[in-house]
Amino acid sequence: MATPIADSDVLLVVDVQNDFCPSGQLPVPHGDDVVPIINRLARRFRHVVLTQDWHPAGHHSFASSHPGRRPFETVTLAYGRQILWPDHCVQGTPGAQFHNGLQIPHAALVLRKGFRPAIDSYSAFYENDRKTPTGLAGYLRERGLTRVFVAGLAFDFCVRYSAEDARREGFGVIVIEDACRGIDVDGSVAATRESFAALDVAGVTADAAG
Ligand SMILES: [Zn+2]
Repeated sequence: MATPIADSDVLLVVDVQNDFCPSGQLPVPHGDDVVPIINRLARRFRHVVLTQDWHPAGHHSFASSHPGRRPFETVTLAYGRQILWPDHCVQGTPGAQFHNGLQIPHAALVLRKGFRPAIDSYSAFYENDRKTPTGLAGYLRERGLTRVFVAGLAFDFCVRYSAEDARREGFGVIVIEDACRGIDVDGSVAATRESFAALDVAGVTADAAG
């Protein structure tokens, strides 16, 4: 079933950065497969926002910041449970740059997240303390954008949290499933699908959008 794109729709392209692609520090399997799909998709949207994971060196979400801990272990930080990741998307490094095949010159906003040393930020709307806003909800409202199409990396983390928060903020939300790839830590892909079903977050294919 086709989903027509309206002028009040925005495409949110999540973290299509070198470190999340197969040669990067925190590779999402087949992560770079989304690049041509998202390029084609983006041409159908007047409004596009890109997010960029953007950590200072020594960020608290890095396993290397916790002596004796290894990537993908879980720790409790001030705001709750946090998976520890390999060092990735360090500000100003090649790994933090967008995949060089990404071609969305008309994107109006690059929203950087995860720049506070002690708080991770999966969602494009709220950091992982669930209290600190990124400002994106206000930006979208001020621009009259009411429905968010989400694509990018990783399906089960930053795409998931962004879609959930968009829904909670009252936006319509559609996830372009074939324009996402997951990393799947401890069943996180299945948990994401359950959450989307519970929150009434719709999923479509890229071909059906527009
Ligand atoms: Zn990160």
